[in-house]
Amino acid sequence: MKTQAQVVVVGGGVVGCSVLYHLTKLGWSDAVLLERKELTSGSTWHAAGGMHTINGDPSVAKLQQYTIELYRDIEAISEQSIGLHMTGGIMLAATPARFDWLKSIHAKGRYLGMETELISAREAAELMPLIDSSQFEGAMYDPIEGHLDPSGTTHAYAKAARKNGATIYTQTRVTDLHQQADGSWRVMTESGEIVAEHVVNAGGLWAREVGRMVGLELPVLAMEHMYLITEDMPEVTAFNEVSGKEMLHAVDFDGEIYVRQERKGMLMGTYEKACVPWSPTQTPWDFGQDLLPADIDRIAPSLEIGFQHFPAFQQAGIKQIINGPFTFAPDGNPLVGPIKGLPGFWCACAVMAGFSQGGGVGLALANWMVEGDPGFDVWAMDVSRFGDWTTLPYTNAKVKENYSRRFSIRFPNEELPAGRPLRTTPVYDQLLAAGAQMGEAYGLEQALWFAPEGVKDEFSWRRSTDFEHVAAEVSAVRNGVGLMEISGFAKYSISGAGASAWLDQLLACRLPEEDRMSLAPMLNRKGKLIGDFSLANLGDDEYFLAGAGVAEAYHMRWFLQNLPDDSSVEIMPHGASIVGFSIAGPKSRQVLASVTSEDVSANAFTFMDIREMDVGMAPCLVGRVSYTGDLGYEIWMEPEYQRHVLGVLLAAGAEHGLRLFGSRALNALRLEKNFGSWAREYRPIYGPYEAGMGRFIALNKEAEFIGKAAATKEKEHGGTMRLRSFVVDADDADVIGDEAIWLNGEVRGWVTSGGYAHGSAVSVAMGYVPWTCANEDGGWEIEILGERRSAKLQIAPLFDPKAERMRG
Ligand SMILES: Cc1cc2nc3c(=O)[nH]c(=O)nc-3n(C[C@H](O)[C@H](O)[C@H](O)COP(=O)(O)OP(=O)(O)OC[C@H]3O[C@@H](n4cnc5c(N)ncnc54)[C@H](O)[C@@H]3O)c2cc1C
Repeated sequence: MKTQAQVVVVGGGVVGCSVLYHLTKLGWSDAVLLERKELTSGSTWHAAGGMHTINGDPSVAKLQQYTIELYRDIEAISEQSIGLHMTGGIMLAATPARFDWLKSIHAKGRYLGMETELISAREAAELMPLIDSSQFEGAMYDPIEGHLDPSGTTHAYAKAARKNGATIYTQTRVTDLHQQADGSWRVMTESGEIVAEHVVNAGGLWAREVGRMVGLELPVLAMEHMYLITEDMPEVTAFNEVSGKEMLHAVDFDGEIYVRQERKGMLMGTYEKACVPWSPTQTPWDFGQDLLPADIDRIAPSLEIGFQHFPAFQQAGIKQIINGPFTFAPDGNPLVGPIKGLPGFWCACAVMAGFSQGGGVGLALANWMVEGDPGFDVWAMDVSRFGDWTTLPYTNAKVKENYSRRFSIRFPNEELPAGRPLRTTPVYDQLLAAGAQMGEAYGLEQALWFAPEGVKDEFSWRRSTDFEHVAAEVSAVRNGVGLMEISGFAKYSISGAGASAWLDQLLACRLPEEDRMSLAPMLNRKGKLIGDFSLANLGDDEYFLAGAGVAEAYHMRWFLQNLPDDSSVEIMPHGASIVGFSIAGPKSRQVLASVTSEDVSANAFTFMDIREMDVGMAPCLVGRVSYTGDLGYEIWMEPEYQRHVLGVLLAAGAEHGLRLFGSRALNALRLEKNFGSWAREYRPIYGPYEAGMGRFIALNKEAEFIGKAAATKEKEHGGTMRLRSFVVDADDADVIGDEAIWLNGEVRGWVTSGGYAHGSAVSVAMGYVPWTCANEDGGWEIEILGERRSAKLQIAPLFDPKAERMRG
């Protein structure tokens, strides 16, 4: 066995082999794959081999598209058959709500160039005659679906990688991993040791155990999964003979089943509600190409509906039932990328749809390792979207929920209950008592809106029970004063003699003066947006940075990668050990003035000032800034003071009609200011000029900040897209995100976010369109639930376009 390699991939399932192939394709031929038994000895060998492009996240959908397009190439390069059957498929809706969901998926797919089609139940039955059309409302047809041979596909990746110079050792279990002082990895195996610059965890069913070798508890759990294969069915043979085609794939969401043709019979798989985890704490090393005992009772409720919806199954004999485990992350998307604080250690784990996603995961990870950037927006599968709060019991609760809901609708206003509440702040109970309807972000409970007694969210694609109450919260902010908890922001302290110089080359903005704040975009080396913060200079080489809460691990990974190793800079993430409130609205100054002895009058405490001051009796850090676009303040404190500060502010606000507001009202408020948000408008696929953040980019500052050269080019050439806001002629539903934007009958862009802007009483959508047409006056339409609605470009913010309220 070799003793040295540039990279060792641990695991020879479809994902590990795809990673290996993609690394060698990019020129890393000194690559070794180590497999415990034979290739495919995890979940890969018994997969049903189905593949499709549909995914709730458009960037993941794009990578799925790439995976499927790659198959013909891989077959040709490797000269290994992968048994590809491109049958096309239909997704069936048995209820109007499900049909609305399909319409939203169809609208999303449009700008990705997906060729899906909405069809009636009758048309669906013509394409796939096994269904009883009377059971369905309608369907969506997708030509890019099919199935393949899982083993052939894995071997095809492996052969293609070998042709590019890779080495594969089977029967070689990795038993431990150690990082050496020079950063290289000692990879210990049952048959010797390899030293490698990089290690990839593609351990599939054992990804958790491989993670534990380096002290990581990855949020991943295997679930049992069953499918059955029927005897030959005359209906299938008859259809094949008459049409000359194979049966289409079909997903029946209400039956929680999927079906496809298998030889002359059919295969039916289920995502049953009564799901069962497999090896919830430790995966046995002696598990190989084994199956688990079938449990037909568990899937009987799904089969019952399936047999009603597909009556021909009632007469079919069952030839075999397969039960095998495969892994999931808490949200069902893969865990890909480098790990904070572990240079050279990479993950390609929790890939639950290896045959739809394996190629894309391999490509993104290989790009990341070789080029330093995945080349796509991989936020939805970035391992850093989870933090230390994803303990084993949390992961297990969430994965079970995710599996049992795999074919359930998640409405845009629906919060999922498993694993909650986990992280709470001291005022959690007080907010609940005031009617807070809670959501969760990065494990932390946060108020979405405040409901009167007896009212709660009714889940819907359309406007719902919260509408009038969110409107009242917005009105309180615009006409008086509102208070919102903002503990969910990520907060960091940066200090040390080198802090200013470091921040100056890390962030693209000019550093603020002492006791002042700046908006601080952060770019990667390609000049794309990887963060938007508010940066405060507290003096004495100390800074306070606040940014998107969900991106805390993502940003910490970047900060640590770029931190000098001379101890001149220290960075400390605060999590919920600093909590906060925002008070906003024209009367917010009066409220603050009445609870502090500090002079906070308009000229003494100006827009973007920040200062330590007492609020009531509590020491706080107060910044004059508000994401509502109104006069407002952010007040930060240690958790032990939070209840005191809330009490003081509520008491002082009472005479001004202060009202609590939540993140839905905040969304409505920022939309009428054309303010973008992280992970929606601001993502690593957009440049700062495309995203309308050009005015914060200090190209003429001395520091050679990361991404400066690329940003300079973007400014010269204009980039390709522009962020724009639109007022949409909506009816009873607003955009959710990812819908197509049309111009003069052609799809030209996509929606990033939107909703009802209660303050201006209009429906707003934000999104990207090519800069060449970004100022076109008319001809715009935006698709909401499958219907094209006319839209008006809104260049100036609807509220306070001169920012007089915010700065006054
Ligand atoms: C019943 C069933 C049906 C499915 N149907 C579909 C489907 O229709 N479509 C679809 O896309 N997906 C399907 N899947 C899921 C699919 O199988 C997985 O997404 C895919 O197999 C994941 O591949 P992997 O390479 O990540 O993991 P695995 O296949 O588990 O591979 C991991 C490999 O790593 C090796 N390994 C682990 N630890 C070590 C170590 N320490 N040293 C050396 N080697 C190690 C293992 O032996 C194994 O070979 C199905 C799964 C099941 C169980």
